[in-house]
Amino acid sequence: MSFDPDAVREEFPILKRQVNGRPLVYLDNAASAQKPRAVIAAMSRVMETCYANVHRGLHTLANETTDAYEAARNSVARFLNAATPAEIVFTKGGTEAINLVAASFGQSIQAGDEIVVSQMEHHANIVPWHFLRERKGAVLRWVPVTDDGRLDMEAYRALLGPRTRMVAISHMSNVLGTINPAREIVEAAHAHGVPVLLDGCQAIVHEAVDVQALDVDFYAFSGHKLYGPTGIGVLYGKAERLAALPPYQGGGEMIGQVAEDAITYADPPHRFEAGTPAIVEAIGLGAAIEWLSGIDRKASAEHEKALYRRVVEGLNGANWIKPIGTAPDKGAIFSFNVEGAHAHDIAQLLDRYGVAVRAGTHCAEPLLRRFGASSSARASFALYNTLEEADSFVEALGRARAFFA
Ligand code: PMP
Repeated sequence: MSFDPDAVREEFPILKRQVNGRPLVYLDNAASAQKPRAVIAAMSRVMETCYANVHRGLHTLANETTDAYEAARNSVARFLNAATPAEIVFTKGGTEAINLVAASFGQSIQAGDEIVVSQMEHHANIVPWHFLRERKGAVLRWVPVTDDGRLDMEAYRALLGPRTRMVAISHMSNVLGTINPAREIVEAAHAHGVPVLLDGCQAIVHEAVDVQALDVDFYAFSGHKLYGPTGIGVLYGKAERLAALPPYQGGGEMIGQVAEDAITYADPPHRFEAGTPAIVEAIGLGAAIEWLSGIDRKASAEHEKALYRRVVEGLNGANWIKPIGTAPDKGAIFSFNVEGAHAHDIAQLLDRYGVAVRAGTHCAEPLLRRFGASSSARASFALYNTLEEADSFVEALGRARAFFA
């Protein structure tokens, strides 16, 4: 297979729009990606042809919708190379997937038990563990980040010990773009009998993830960054890990039997899907994954890295740009500050030229603090971005800077 970004662009209707009289250059993909027609059509199709609630029907529409919902679970399982679809729990997003593990696994946490996280985590992979610190007396141990934005793996190994109960680390940083050595992280933790949760919200978008090859215990991600809809995410859990977890939320569909004085619970994954799930969104995510399966992902990842390199070369070492995150072989995320300017002002000026970037803390305050910054701007690339767009971004940045020079 080969990869043609221009052909791929054609499948995203929104990319034709203009912003402030200029062609849209959408570089806020790490926050949320745009949707291909295949996803929009699959979601419309279910609502136009067979929509009903899932799992409870004895009628045709309910059965058809249930089949489509479970087919989406099968697509996710294949995409991750999970051993069985029962290892795939639908959640409302990556955030909920991590909260599910922290809340459920966390029930067995005792005072003094340690959770290893890193300085480069998104708040979604920090705050749920802080809850355990506040409520259970757990101790958070932080893996430091090197000056170029890598995990300090030696320090990581040294943090693992007899009190470690969980390692929760991002597979790819949403600020630095660093892709962490997931297999090494898992191996080191398993050598201490410690399970690993990888926050895959960013990594899953840019590379093929094989949960069995990684031997990871939990893997969390959101649909909306993966060209799918909002309101849907995935928690992968190894069958034996999920089987050992108590329920997260209570309600319909997650039970075995309910009596006045007793209750039994359904097996995973349904044990963790209380209430009516995000049916249409799950089907949309399934469509996004099927759509991605038709793409040469190695080639698209190379294309994205070429976009990042184009920006770095275009800026040509400009001394007014302060990049954050320069790890070797990093993914296509460019976080930066402009000397003398606030990141928000830069983002607003870029918008005048049709260029959409994000600015702020990116929900990663410990990381920004590590780099002595209170905010940064961030351009993040998707497979539908082009080299011309990378050039437009560099040009717009030069113009934005002129306001402050
Ligand atoms: N982790 C990482 C690394 C992320 O980039 C994000 C989204 N910015 C999240 C977690 C949270 O994802 P969501 O808001 O979709 O639940």
